Amino acid sequence: MINSAQINAAVMERFKRLIANHRLAHAYLLVGPKDVGKTQTALSLAQLVNCEKGIACGECAACQKIAAGNHPDVHVLGNDEMESIKIEEIRFLLSRAHLMAYEAKTKVFIIRNIELMTMEAANALLKTLEEPAGSTLMILTTSVPEVNLDTIKSRCHIIQFFPSSVNRVAKLLMDEGIKNDDAHFLAVYSEGCLGKSRKLIEQEMILQRPRIINEMLFNRQNDNFIKEISGDPQVASQALRLLLSFFRDVILFKSGVSKTELIHQDCLGEVEKFAGRGFEDLALIIRQIVQTKELVDEKLNIKMSLSLLREHIWAN
Ligand SMILES: [Zn+2]
Repeated sequence: MINSAQINAAVMERFKRLIANHRLAHAYLLVGPKDVGKTQTALSLAQLVNCEKGIACGECAACQKIAAGNHPDVHVLGNDEMESIKIEEIRFLLSRAHLMAYEAKTKVFIIRNIELMTMEAANALLKTLEEPAGSTLMILTTSVPEVNLDTIKSRCHIIQFFPSSVNRVAKLLMDEGIKNDDAHFLAVYSEGCLGKSRKLIEQEMILQRPRIINEMLFNRQNDNFIKEISGDPQVASQALRLLLSFFRDVILFKSGVSKTELIHQDCLGEVEKFAGRGFEDLALIIRQIVQTKELVDEKLNIKMSLSLLREHIWAN
């Protein structure tokens, strides 16, 4: 069964819009932590493209079969117990991609945890991604985006998921009397960890937030700022996490999510400016921030990495 609480509403909205505009691509990679709802959302997308009412109603025959796991044209490969995904499994799955659909409008192939694919399996999949069969939708998932599958990734549209515990932490903080906006911000920024949120309150991160956003995203001559935060890898890493939460907002905003759902509601003008960029550009920026954060966390070339990131963000 599909657990509706785990379906990512923002992603669903984005897909509804893509379908309405006839811009649905044939391959997507859902990236995010384990148990964040990637598979549930993928199944819901399978419903969306096959629903008799076109809305993933959950009630029509197609929706019900997909939820029950017995739709003949919706295939799921991989689970959390598997140690690897082998070429035979990929081949068997893909052999169905070129068959006529039994009853679906769009055949859907969900491959979970693609980081588990052997090199041969990845190459077999690559061929299908390069030459998609008509009306098929491939939805891949991974919780390890840094895994070396660039050839696969470059052929998919990447969709980022964030931890689901964030909403719960935000609510706890609000119950403690933290302002609505600040609670959302802290919950996301602390990756859904209440203890971290409390630490951030002590560190007055709420006060530094607008400055980091403005210096890193809107001031091209910010060498002094970069110099200042490079001095302390922890501060630099925090600033980058802050930027990730900002771009999370940009993606949500662009996907049509209501302004009240955003965590940087007081930076709405800034969010809107970046929302003018394409989803691919934004996904690239997010990847570059993640990569820069990895370098910073390893204390490698912090100042240069931050300067390069700034250039990438401007150039994109
Ligand atoms: Zn339906």
